[in-house]
Amino acid sequence: MKTIVILGVGVAAAPLIRQTMRNVVLKDKEYNLIVVAPTTHFHWPIAMPRVIVPGQLSEDKAMIDLRPIFKEYPSDQFEFVLGAASALDPTGNTVAVSLNDGGSRTINYHTLVVATGTSSKDNMPWKAMATTEQTKQRLHELQQQIENARTIAVVGGGQTGSETAGELGFEYSKQGRKEVYFIYNDRLPLAPPLMESVRKQTKTELEKLNVKLIPNTKVTAVEHSGGDTILTLTDAEGKVTTLTTQAYVPTTGGIPNSSFVPANLLDSNGFILQTKSLQVKGHDNIFVLGDVGSLEECKAGVADAQAVHLIKALPIYLKGGVMPTYTPSNKVMVGITLGRSRATGQFGSFKLFSFLIHYAKGRFLGTDYCHLIAAGKKTLMTTYEK
Ligand SMILES: Cc1cc2nc3c(=O)[nH]c(=O)nc-3n(C[C@H](O)[C@H](O)[C@H](O)COP(=O)(O)OP(=O)(O)OC[C@H]3O[C@@H](n4cnc5c(N)ncnc54)[C@H](O)[C@@H]3O)c2cc1C
Repeated sequence: MKTIVILGVGVAAAPLIRQTMRNVVLKDKEYNLIVVAPTTHFHWPIAMPRVIVPGQLSEDKAMIDLRPIFKEYPSDQFEFVLGAASALDPTGNTVAVSLNDGGSRTINYHTLVVATGTSSKDNMPWKAMATTEQTKQRLHELQQQIENARTIAVVGGGQTGSETAGELGFEYSKQGRKEVYFIYNDRLPLAPPLMESVRKQTKTELEKLNVKLIPNTKVTAVEHSGGDTILTLTDAEGKVTTLTTQAYVPTTGGIPNSSFVPANLLDSNGFILQTKSLQVKGHDNIFVLGDVGSLEECKAGVADAQAVHLIKALPIYLKGGVMPTYTPSNKVMVGITLGRSRATGQFGSFKLFSFLIHYAKGRFLGTDYCHLIAAGKKTLMTTYEK
């Protein structure tokens, strides 16, 4: 038996799982597929800036139970192991797994795909946390804090921060129901390669929602006192002030889930070094997809394109063919939702109209189709089955 192991059940892994079952495993009894992940649910980060707003978008639309989907596959050729990869031996072709139920297991693989993504910093549920239960618990705690807060502070000026400030602004500060602050360490929200005009538009839209912008400022200390969180803010000139909030919402980026991978296979930031065919150099039977890989930035569009490539390339590799090269896209393609009626974005060097991004993304934040990605029937750009 040749065992294919896929680590992760995220945006990159989910379509690969189903399409590898259909293209390879179910066609040839010589193969079996083992999926390893610590989460029972597929997690759709793109919707989370709205899911955290109490009563806005049900978490069930963004967190989809995979177990009924996986039941479709025959148990002699498919297994879902609930646990986290804890050690990879690329020479011995084994991966050790810490099982959620407390035990451990070592799995031998013929071919391994690592798609373990990133985790959000500061114990936030933007990405899947250690288990689905933990993600839900933290989400509910955050929703409760937001519900009870008079003042909410969103910290971190990237896409997640800008979209979250927009959602909270639309729901609360626009009507004067709560104060929403947005703190970021630059002149404007977002960063290059996004154009100045897109960044300015983001600022203008947030101001229209009465979000209070605090630019050029870092949070240098966080202290909890009763139900309050006291943030120490330090601006570019070194001036120190404090802000008292009841809901502290950090959006400060992610950490690659690669602690189980030998250090010599990682770049200096902990991302797994990928070749141009999405393999690990010197270990052709290990493929790397999505956020955890070193080749491109952490974006669903990238995870998607890499998954689509491997869906085609894996059967070629398994038959001993020449691996096709993956071509990263060098075009900027970003849609930024700013509340429930406005948006901005960029395609190449064009700023996109608010109504276009709102129509394509802002109305549902992908929750109208992410269940199909979870089921592996579709990616962002490719549909495999109707
Ligand atoms: C709030 C937010 C909004 C976003 N919005 C956009 C957007 O609008 N457009 C865009 O292009 N991108 C967006 N992104 C980025 C996008 O979500 C990621 O690029 C995408 O999720 C990457 O997919 P992935 O499959 O590589 O990793 P992930 O989605 O992180 O999935 C990783 C999987 O691996 C599992 N896992 C983790 N550790 C282990 C382990 N040790 N063993 C086994 N399994 C493990 C996890 O449980 C999970 O199933 C957003 C991100 C966030 C946080």
